[in-house]
Amino acid sequence: MTVADALRHAQAQLQHSDTPDLDAQLLLAHVLGKSRSWLFAHDIDALTADQQAAFAALTARRAAGEPVAYLLGRADFYDFTLKVTPDVLIPRPETELLVEQALEKVREKSAAKKVGDPPVCAVDLGTGSGAIAIALARHAPEVAVAASDASCAALTVARENAQRLGVDIDFRHGSWLEPFAGERFDVIASNPPYIDSADPHLRGDIRHEPQQALVAGEHGLADLRAIIERAPAHLNAGGWLLLEHGYDQQDAVESLFRAAGFDAIVCLHDLAGQPRVSLAQWNN
Ligand code: GLN
Repeated sequence: MTVADALRHAQAQLQHSDTPDLDAQLLLAHVLGKSRSWLFAHDIDALTADQQAAFAALTARRAAGEPVAYLLGRADFYDFTLKVTPDVLIPRPETELLVEQALEKVREKSAAKKVGDPPVCAVDLGTGSGAIAIALARHAPEVAVAASDASCAALTVARENAQRLGVDIDFRHGSWLEPFAGERFDVIASNPPYIDSADPHLRGDIRHEPQQALVAGEHGLADLRAIIERAPAHLNAGGWLLLEHGYDQQDAVESLFRAAGFDAIVCLHDLAGQPRVSLAQWNN
């Protein structure tokens, strides 16, 4: 069986995927230890029996719905690659919007600092693979970055990612702001669970991802509410809270921000044109 045969065969099995060709190429490149472009230049090369068997096994798992990122053990996010396991949510491109905004806010805060002031500090709540915290630490090295997660298994993955990418993050075990009693930040960012448990989307390939990172009570608003209500006690004056949320949660999030006493509320749209990230300032 040649590279081209193997890809054709796998693509036919992966028709449930939105991206059968790409999935097949990524999995075969992974099995062969080559890049995707290598495959196109070697389409008539023959696969060994072991390579065929390994590729068939991964293709079958993908056909059963396991996300490519878990099969490869890695996912690209922003301008770096993260290790991912089924203990962590696979980072999504929408979340890069949250990172861009958080970077803008920490940079504004840094620019406003005077000599002798303590460093700007930011925290990522429910860090999962460490995606948001690592992006902040890489791109705003002057900022002290912390992160929490309620899952020990997720924190192990996040710590490994931070170490491999050479960034120093203060990781804490616990739910949202709980591990930061008495501490205040200039920027709090989070991509909490926000999907309603009845959402049919949860029956797709996403069922392989950790449900505690995806599903929240109160029609997906419970964790957004918990974070918004507790954030004021952990924000410095003029600090920002940035949250990712569902495309239909903009109004609810805005109401929660107002009820908690935030102002300067802004909602940004993702590349699909959906409301996805809201931010607000604590000026009380
Ligand atoms: N945006 C993700 C999805 O719908 C959900 C992420 C989250 O719940 N925080 O697949």
